[in-house]
Amino acid sequence: MAISDNIERIRERISRAAARAGRSSDSITLMAVSKVVEPKRIRQAYQAGIRIFGENRVQEFDGKSSALKDLQEAEWHLIGHLQSNKTNRAAELFQAVDSVDSLRLAKKLDHAARQAGKNLQVLIEINVGGEESKSGIAVSSPELEEILNSARDFTHIQISGLMTIPPFTEDPQGARPYFRTLRELRDRIAARNLRHVRMGVLSIGMSHDFEVAIEEGSTCVRVGTAIFGERPKPT
Ligand SMILES: *Cc1c(COP(=O)(O)O)cnc(C)c1O
Repeated sequence: MAISDNIERIRERISRAAARAGRSSDSITLMAVSKVVEPKRIRQAYQAGIRIFGENRVQEFDGKSSALKDLQEAEWHLIGHLQSNKTNRAAELFQAVDSVDSLRLAKKLDHAARQAGKNLQVLIEINVGGEESKSGIAVSSPELEEILNSARDFTHIQISGLMTIPPFTEDPQGARPYFRTLRELRDRIAARNLRHVRMGVLSIGMSHDFEVAIEEGSTCVRVGTAIFGERPKPT
């Protein structure tokens, strides 16, 4: 299946899920998750209209970004865990970091973005399932509150919303309660009208559960496999 056909199908599925939920599909961004995908195939997704891309490792994207420089309208998001020794390079390479999982990282990124002379959009990653194996801040952790309270001190990062990866279940419906938990958390924070915090983005949904995520309010679905095909298993 060509990448452009895959994208077209996903767009149709997004439209149908949005319609079911009484939402406009314009309110949902399709992010192409291009980790492990070579520049030539990323380019095909761009040609098919994708403008937002997600990469999960700084080093990998560092290696391929120069081959993608000419994709002027592309916006690159880091969606994987960011080690603190890579914040400077991340701030240079990406327009957004969707995986901020500690106050310490938020502070480092703010500093790095200032050094790089740019503003970064960031999402706070929440570990909704409380899984040991996943990064993200626990729903009830005081650290979430600390990050929100620190937002007034940040000058070069803008908190724009929340992101999560729910526990995996074979049945995509299994993700629904976790998506709902994240949406409710987002709504509670948004209702506080914190001056320096935006909560417009709810980044939920991947290849196998993005329709459920849209029904639960997703504004950004992060789709890899359904666009580019199966990734080689990590060794
Ligand atoms: C890999 C990845 C995705 C995409 O997963 P698929 O199942 O291939 O669609 C989405 N979000 C994050 C954070 C990822 O690491």
